[in-house]
Amino acid sequence: MPVIECGCGHCKLTLAEDRPRMSLYCACKDCRQALKWAAKRGGKTPVDLPQPMYMRSDISAVEGQDSMRAFQLRAPARSTRVFCTKCYSILGVDHPAYAGNVFMFFPDHCETDVDLSIKPSALIHMESYPGAAPPDIPDDIPVYQNWDDPKDREAYLKIPDIAAAFRAPEIPALGQTFKGLIDALGEIEVLNLEIGAYPD
Ligand SMILES: [Zn+2]
Ligand SMILES: [Zn+2]
Repeated sequence: MPVIECGCGHCKLTLAEDRPRMSLYCACKDCRQALKWAAKRGGKTPVDLPQPMYMRSDISAVEGQDSMRAFQLRAPARSTRVFCTKCYSILGVDHPAYAGNVFMFFPDHCETDVDLSIKPSALIHMESYPGAAPPDIPDDIPVYQNWDDPKDREAYLKIPDIAAAFRAPEIPALGQTFKGLIDALGEIEVLNLEIGAYPD
């Protein structure tokens, strides 16, 4: 079964499904900030434009739970990220919009044998990206330039893969959900980082 593993090998999530339900390019400030914060503490150097993968939230086995910790960038926050406290790999991210059906992870910032061949459905939050999009981005995917425009968000949520991923699961997880894992980790550490500020 497919795994998401941290860089030092202490933490490992074994997943029920080996293919992502969807994928994106995300240019938002918070993804960049979280990856950079982690990199300063030993995590992998962030790629310019992260490509998160969204996996079914069904975890059949957890290893190294005592080395995992849940973080939020500030309060109030919607995204909760789980890191390895030894190597600062990000293992996954939960957000209320995922409705407990999926969770997100960054394959460039951990070790995984998940099938990563899925084509990204969109590029979001381009308004927050410093400069032009990297040249390897496919030119036939929708690019959302203005997340404050409700029309952009509405169009994004109508993309079939995204609509299907962001709804309550039709079949409950056989194993633990990612949200269940976060709950089991106890208190969430709040980093109090200013929006868009890169940590030193
Ligand atoms: Zn680790
Ligand atoms: Zn993001």
